[in-house]
Amino acid sequence: MEWLGLQFVTELPESGQVILDCSHNPFLVMVAYLVACAASFATLDMAERVVNAEDPGSRRIWRWIGATCLAGGIWAMHFIGMLAFQTPIDIQYDLGITLFSLLIALLASWLAMQTLSEAQPSALHCLKTAFVIGLGIAGMHYVGMAAMKSSATAYYQPGLFALSVAIAIGASFAALWVARYLSEGSGVAHQLLKYSAALILGAGIISMHFTGMAALDLVLPEGGLTASGGDNGHLQLGLTVALIILLILGSAISAALADKKLQNKEEDLRRVNALLSQLDQARMSLQQAANYDALTNLINRRGFNQIFAEKLCQKAAEGGMLAVMFLDIDHFKRINDSLGHDAGDELLKVIAQHIKGSVRSHEDVVARFGGDEFCILINLRDREEARNMAQRIMLKMKEPIELAGRRMVMTTSIGISLFPEDGSTCEELLKHADLALYQSKGAGRNGLHFFSSNLKTRASFELQLEEELRHALREENGLTLYYQPIFELKTGRVTKLEALIRWQHPLHGLLTPDRFITIAENNGLIAELDNWVLRRACKDLGELSRHGCEELKIAWNCSPLNLTRDELANEIEQALRSAGVAPERLELEVTENALMGNIANTLVLLRQIRALGVSLSIDDFGTGYSSLAYLKRLPLNTLKIDRSFILDIPTATADMEIVQAIIVMAHTLHLQVVTEGVESLEQYEFLERSGCDFIQGYLLSRPVPLDELRPVLEEINQRKHSHAVNPLILARGTFAPVSLDPAPKSPAPHAGASVVRPIR
Ligand code: C2E
Ligand code: CA
Ligand code: CA
Repeated sequence: MEWLGLQFVTELPESGQVILDCSHNPFLVMVAYLVACAASFATLDMAERVVNAEDPGSRRIWRWIGATCLAGGIWAMHFIGMLAFQTPIDIQYDLGITLFSLLIALLASWLAMQTLSEAQPSALHCLKTAFVIGLGIAGMHYVGMAAMKSSATAYYQPGLFALSVAIAIGASFAALWVARYLSEGSGVAHQLLKYSAALILGAGIISMHFTGMAALDLVLPEGGLTASGGDNGHLQLGLTVALIILLILGSAISAALADKKLQNKEEDLRRVNALLSQLDQARMSLQQAANYDALTNLINRRGFNQIFAEKLCQKAAEGGMLAVMFLDIDHFKRINDSLGHDAGDELLKVIAQHIKGSVRSHEDVVARFGGDEFCILINLRDREEARNMAQRIMLKMKEPIELAGRRMVMTTSIGISLFPEDGSTCEELLKHADLALYQSKGAGRNGLHFFSSNLKTRASFELQLEEELRHALREENGLTLYYQPIFELKTGRVTKLEALIRWQHPLHGLLTPDRFITIAENNGLIAELDNWVLRRACKDLGELSRHGCEELKIAWNCSPLNLTRDELANEIEQALRSAGVAPERLELEVTENALMGNIANTLVLLRQIRALGVSLSIDDFGTGYSSLAYLKRLPLNTLKIDRSFILDIPTATADMEIVQAIIVMAHTLHLQVVTEGVESLEQYEFLERSGCDFIQGYLLSRPVPLDELRPVLEEINQRKHSHAVNPLILARGTFAPVSLDPAPKSPAPHAGASVVRPIR
C-alpha cells in the first residue's frame, strides 16, 4: 500500500508522535450527504432512461450521462467531505492525484451504469459488479486521500478501513438491486421508492466516506504542531462545488424527465396510430363483408353494382365498349339436392376459380350474385372478344371436377349484353344480359347468347304464355295427352304407355312440354297441370279398357315440385276411383333428382302412393347422383335409363358398359328396367342382349294422341314372337302417327344431355 501512501496504525512508530484531533464541519457533511443523494437519484433516473430508451444511440448517451452524474456526484461528495474535514494543520491537495481519483470514480460509475442498463441482471451478476464498483469507489476515496499534502502522516485503522470498503461494496450492491425494481413501473409509489432508494444509497456512499475518514489518524512528530488550520474558506468552496454539481445533476434529471415525457408522448402517438390502423382495418373488413361474397371471395352484387356504375360513367364520358356477362351453372340444384350443400359450396368455389382463371385479372370484374349465378364485367374493343371469353369459360368449365369422391363435368349457360348498343344504364344492361341467359337456358343450356331486341319480345311472349296456360287449365281447353308405347321385350307386346302432355295453342300450334312445363313450375301452375294430366290419364285408362286394352298401364310424369305436396296421394286415389280404374294400371314417374330433395317427407308420400297399389318409376336415371344404398330405401318398381346413355350406342362403348351395369344393378334390387329414347335397331338389339325389360323410343313410335293409338299398338304387337322390330318398317314410315307429333327438337349433344353426369 506504500504507493498509495496508505499506512496503517499498526505501523505507527511507538514514541514521540502526536495524533491530531480532527473534526468535521456538520453543515458541510449535510451538504455532502445531499450531493450523494442527488447523485444516487440522478443515477437511478438515468438507468431507467437507458432501459426504456428505444434506439441504441440514445441508450449510449444516457449511459454516459448516468456515469458522469454518478462519478461527478461521488467525487463532489468526497471533495465536500474533505472540505468539511477540520484539522489543526494546513492541508494542500495534489491536483494530479485528485484528478486521477476522479478518473477512478468515472470508471467505477461507467461499470455501474453498464450493469444498471440491463433490465434484469441476476443476483450473482449484481454481486460481482458491486464488488468491482465498491472497490472502485473505495479506490477513488483513498486515492483522493493520498492527494492530501500536509506536515502530518496519515495512518489508517485496518478495521474501519475494511469496513469502509465493505460499505462501498454493500452500497453498490444495494444500488444495483434497487434498480432492478425501478426499471419498470410508474406512478407515485414508484417515485417514492426511487426517492427512498436515493436516500439510502446516498447514506451508503456518505457512510463509506466517513467510515474511511474515521479510519484516518493524522500523526505529527512531537513538537511539529504549529498554530494554523481552521476553516480556510472551506465552507464557501464546499457550497460552490455543491451548487455546481447539484446544478449539473438537476439538469441531467430535468433532461431525463423531458425525455421520458417525450417518449410517453411518442408512445401515446404510436398507440393512437395503432388504434387508428385497427379502426381502418375493421372498417375495411366491414366493407369487405358488405361488398364481398364470403364463400368465393368474389365481389357480390352490391360491390359489382358500385364498380359497374363507375365504369359505365367512365365509358359514357370517354367512349368505349363494355360487356355484361351472366353465367348460370347448368343443373346446379341437382348437386345441392343429391350431394348436399357442403359439396355444392365446394363446387361453387372451384367454379369461381375457373371463371377467374379465364378472365383478364386486372381488367375484368367477376362477381357472384348468389346461388350459382355469376356476373362478369368486361372491357371490350369488339363484340367478338366477349364471345371468345365466354367460350373460354365454357371450355374451362368442362374440365372434370373432383367432388365428394366423384369426378364430374359441369356446363354453364351464358347471356351477354353490350354497352352502348344494348342499353345505357346498369339496370337495363343487367336485365338484358339476364334475358340473353334465359334464352341460352331455353335453347338447351351449355350455350351462349347475346342480347337481341327480339329477346324482349320473347320475354313478353313467355309472360303471355303463362297467362294463356292459366286460362287453358281453367277452361280445360287446348291441353291434350299424347301416349308413347313402352314395349316389353319378354312378351313382345306394348304393355305400358307414357302419358306426355301437349298444348294445342290457338296461335303457335302444338306445343311440347319443354315450352310450358317450366312456366307452370315457375308460376305455381304445376300442381294443377299434373293433376289435370292424372285425371285425364285415368279417364283414358277407362276408355282403353272399353276398347279391349284392359291390361295396358299408363306412366304418368309428376313434377318434383308436386312431390312436396302431402295431398298428392289423396288426389291420385280420387282420380283412380272416379275413373273406376285399378291402381295397378297407373305408374308414377318421378325424376331421380326429385327424390333427392327432402328424402324423409318424400319417402312418406311415396309409401302412401305405393300403398294404393300404384307403381313407382324413377325417371331419367343416371343424370343424378343416386347411390345404390339410397335407391334401396325407396319403394320403387321400375328404373328408366336416361336417353343420354343410349344416344351414342353402339359407338360409345363406355356408355354401353354403363347401361349394362345399371341393368344388372336394377335387377339386383328387383327393379324392372325401361330404356327410353331408343331410335335404332342396333340400340334395340344391344338392349335386348343386355337383359333390358322395356324399350321406349321413336324406333317403335313417337307419342300419339289416344284416338290414333290403336293402329300403332296393333302394328307393334303383330310382330310378337318374330323379330320385334324390322328396320324396313321404319324405312317405310309405317307409323303414320309419327307425323302428328311436332318435329322433335334436334337432340341435344351428348355432353350437353349429360351435363352433370358423373364420369365413371
Ligand atoms: P321425359 O319424361 O323424359 O319424357 C320422354 C321424352 O322423350 C318425351 O318428350 C318424349 O317425346 C321423348 N322421346 C321419347 N322417345 C324418344 C326418342 O326416341 N328420341 C327422342 N329424341 N326423344 C324421345 P316430351 O314429350 O317432349 O317431354 C319432355 C319432358 O317433359 C318429359 O321428359 C317430362 O319430363 C316432361 N313432361 C311431359 N309430360 C309431362 C306431364 O304431364 N307432367 C310433367 N310434370 N312433365 C311432363
Ligand atoms: Ca317420363
Ligand atoms: Ca325420361
